[in-house]
Amino acid sequence: MISQTIPHVKERIAGVASRAGRRPEEITLVAVAKGKTLQQIQEAVSCGIADVGENRVQEALLQYGALKTENRELTTVRWHMVGHLQTNKVKDAVRIFDLIHSLDSLRLAREIDRQAAMISKVQEVLIEVKTSSDAAKSGVSPEDTPALLREIAGLPHIKAMGLMTMAPLADDPEQARPYFRALRQLSERINAQRITSEALRILSMGMTDDFEVAIEEGATMVRLGRAIFEG
Ligand SMILES: *Cc1c(COP(=O)(O)O)cnc(C)c1O
Repeated sequence: MISQTIPHVKERIAGVASRAGRRPEEITLVAVAKGKTLQQIQEAVSCGIADVGENRVQEALLQYGALKTENRELTTVRWHMVGHLQTNKVKDAVRIFDLIHSLDSLRLAREIDRQAAMISKVQEVLIEVKTSSDAAKSGVSPEDTPALLREIAGLPHIKAMGLMTMAPLADDPEQARPYFRALRQLSERINAQRITSEALRILSMGMTDDFEVAIEEGATMVRLGRAIFEG
């Protein structure tokens, strides 16, 4: 039941934050609603979810459209694109998403800038960083991230807010720790070198199986699907 899983997840976030000497308000909970029904998303929002994540533009468009017309409460929800974004979906994506977590190439950045310019928007994005050598994962290498950020700084309709990563699948959440730590350290190096005009503030890392470790390592955004919808 979503009405029980959400308070439970929030308690876990608050618990690990305070044990790590952090304030729970520093951590944004994004409910990843891929494959969920409209009704489930609505229920999550009525239980206090303010950030909804999707991994497909097509599915997100349908849900966003339906929810906006049905329910005024939802006009305050922030929409997050957490999945891989294809260039030909950018036009629709910039219309609905408040934050795109999966920017992974200059080509994609240029297309986002172009489409955002057409609707007079500055699109906020995170760079998806490939912190593991797992060949199947998308993302920019840590070495190439500063150069990509420099290029983005020259594009007026796109703004980099931080970094995102996914740890490889593992049985033990502790195995994710080095990847989360690497993302935080990369962000600290970028901020120390003043590569972006404003410091990067968002670290989007941690899913159902490893979000507590991610918070210990400095996550400011956790992306949870199963813990909320299947808990
Ligand atoms: C599905 C998904 C999540 C949520 O995963 P859970 O393990 O269900 O919490 C988070 N981030 C991305 C990019 C996803 O695709």
